[in-house]
Amino acid sequence: MIRTDIHDMDFPEYLATIAAFTDDELIPAEPEMVREGEVPARILHRMAELGLFGISIPREYGGLGWSMEQQVRLTLEFTRASCVYRSRFSTVIGLCSQAILDHGTDEQRAAMLPAMAAGERVTAFALTEPQAGSDAFSLQTTAERDGDAYVLYGEKRFITNAAWADWFIVFARTDPSVQGAPGVSAILVDAHTDGVRTALPDQMNGHAEGPVGEIYLDGVRVSTDAVIGGAEGQGLPVALRGINHARLHVAATCVGQATRMLEETVAYVSGREQFGGPLADLGAVQSDLGESFAEVEAARALTLECARAFDTGAIPRHQISAAKLFASETASRVGDRCVQLLGGVGIVGDHPVPRMWRDVRALRIYEGSSPVHRRNLAKAMVRSVHTDGALPDTYRVIRGG
Ligand SMILES: Cc1cc2nc3c(=O)[nH]c(=O)nc-3n(C[C@H](O)[C@H](O)[C@H](O)COP(=O)(O)OP(=O)(O)OC[C@H]3O[C@@H](n4cnc5c(N)ncnc54)[C@H](O)[C@@H]3O)c2cc1C
Repeated sequence: MIRTDIHDMDFPEYLATIAAFTDDELIPAEPEMVREGEVPARILHRMAELGLFGISIPREYGGLGWSMEQQVRLTLEFTRASCVYRSRFSTVIGLCSQAILDHGTDEQRAAMLPAMAAGERVTAFALTEPQAGSDAFSLQTTAERDGDAYVLYGEKRFITNAAWADWFIVFARTDPSVQGAPGVSAILVDAHTDGVRTALPDQMNGHAEGPVGEIYLDGVRVSTDAVIGGAEGQGLPVALRGINHARLHVAATCVGQATRMLEETVAYVSGREQFGGPLADLGAVQSDLGESFAEVEAARALTLECARAFDTGAIPRHQISAAKLFASETASRVGDRCVQLLGGVGIVGDHPVPRMWRDVRALRIYEGSSPVHRRNLAKAMVRSVHTDGALPDTYRVIRGG
């Protein structure tokens, strides 16, 4: 029986609890989730009961307050199961709670974080728009001041948890006369406010059981108190706080997914016999497996190292970018090799590996697509070497002595 007295557990006990939950409940429930086309309500209840919505939220707000390294180690465990489970609480633990925690007012923190940590209120992060994807701060949604209220008009798309969120953090232009980020504010919108409508896509390629959604804002009135932090024009720092946290969680997710795909594939090729013996005895198969293991371990080490740097204070955004880029490319590459090693079983039927391979493809697109990370890292390097003579966020200068 898995314990639920989570607030009394030390970290090793909690980690073991989540590992057992992954093996005993999340992974066995995957076929049911696929059949039903959504995460079963029973599993959602268990995720909340076991504190997964609150792993990054401080204890004073009812969460578990684990460090980033601990959050990453937990993610490595629960993402051995379908990453769709994680997506149901990902926007709470990463994008939204951290933005509210660091940039919200005392009243916003007190009003939102306890319900979020308990899994009672889901939040979604609404930045992307049809005309503003990678260039997110060219967004066109407006929030016009009208007395003691803002009135919002606009359209958001590809928003994780849009359809079942209770609150949205909506990024909107409060000053239309200012181009780019400085004119943008982060505004809390209750999903049940008049003028809010959400819609699900007809089809998903991957993440089918946890679809993203669209949000339409048509004359939505919110109080001026709803601006995160109370000051207009702070949309960019609020967004980056959530995004950098979430990117590191995504890197860990990629490692968890790749680990499971590799374990499933090793089990398959050990049992599948061709040419008089197991596929696992063939040199070419061993080469793919060995290469994949080394790459996954490299991604794991980079992600954990990045988490440790995060816990020392300043957010190591370039390392995070590198970890997210490398881990997501690794998961996709390893998944592709695994599907190949499964042969027809990788294409026909309900084996978990091809499902996970389709799911991880999206991880190279959201939280910054791979080309955008490459571009940003290159620009940061050029800038940093030009000004400091060294690469950004590296250990050439010893951190903290
Ligand atoms: C499953 C999923 C969940 C998501 N969840 C959220 C969410 O919760 N909240 C939210 O706000 N958004 C979310 N998104 C949106 C996501 O952040 C965007 O899809 C992403 O930023 C890319 O934007 P786009 O899809 O409009 O692609 P575009 O910006 O049109 O880019 C298309 C492609 O062009 C290339 N490209 C773009 N810019 C550059 C560049 N500067 N240099 C080189 N190549 C480039 C890249 O290959 C990119 O993939 C989600 C998306 C998905 C798929």
